[in-house]
Amino acid sequence: MTLPSTEPLGAEPVPLPVPVSELGEGPVWVAAETALYWVDIPAGRVHRLAGDGGHASWEVGAPAGAVVPRAGGGLVVAAGTGFVTLEPATGAVAPLAGTTASPADARMNDGACDLAGRFYAGTMAHDEAPGGGTLYRLDPDRSVTEIYPRVGVSNGIGWSPDNRQMYYIDSLEYRVDVMDYDPLTGQIGERRPFAAVGAGDVQPDGLAVDSDGGLWVAVWGGGMIQRLDPAGRPAGQIRLPAANVTSCAFGGPDMDRLYITTAAGPGRLGGTLFGCLPGVPGLPAHPFRG
Ligand code: CA
Repeated sequence: MTLPSTEPLGAEPVPLPVPVSELGEGPVWVAAETALYWVDIPAGRVHRLAGDGGHASWEVGAPAGAVVPRAGGGLVVAAGTGFVTLEPATGAVAPLAGTTASPADARMNDGACDLAGRFYAGTMAHDEAPGGGTLYRLDPDRSVTEIYPRVGVSNGIGWSPDNRQMYYIDSLEYRVDVMDYDPLTGQIGERRPFAAVGAGDVQPDGLAVDSDGGLWVAVWGGGMIQRLDPAGRPAGQIRLPAANVTSCAFGGPDMDRLYITTAAGPGRLGGTLFGCLPGVPGLPAHPFRG
């Protein structure tokens, strides 16, 4: 179990041989490197599992909510209350852009890039206070725009296979929302409910989209990935031994693997990175184009 590109995987998630995170999050497959990146948020650490099974990690000096590849090479990390660049070759970290958030109140959480390379990333209040988060967009010109102020815990972001629908999760709403989306302009239509997920301490977290337009939603506190069909109806689950399932991403040379991050908490193997073959391939992640 050392080669993430070639190791045998089945439908059942198996632990992958990498360090355990306190709060593993934000997996993203970088096809150009045949490597998976993810973050351990409170550690401010970016992890990489390469196609040859090699593991490496870097600290960025602030809580790291999400990592995305950069079209010109290197990475961009939503960290602290802004965006930084990370050069894996040297470990160099440099500020890229800030936001209106205060580090005393909030930190960056989940994020993802659209087809045109705009980086959407949102914040959450340290105390998870309702209204304490904001969804931001970092454009390739490095300008930052508030998309949704006063959200709760800003989380999963994704797009439909035709890029005409954008999905968004505010975990405190127990809902996946959907908006019409123009990938050319980045214009976002009205936000409306797509599917209800969770209740009480069980909340929707990160998400990934498959090539059939199905959504794979990590369920924090629920010990599973919930698949939703393109109409938002429940359509299968992947059960995990850890309760706090945080996010997932498709990857592998054929985009047929699902990598699943978890966090410390109830159950077994919290904080472990898992992999499985969910039976349908996924959509590639887009790089930041700034
Ligand atoms: Ca999350």
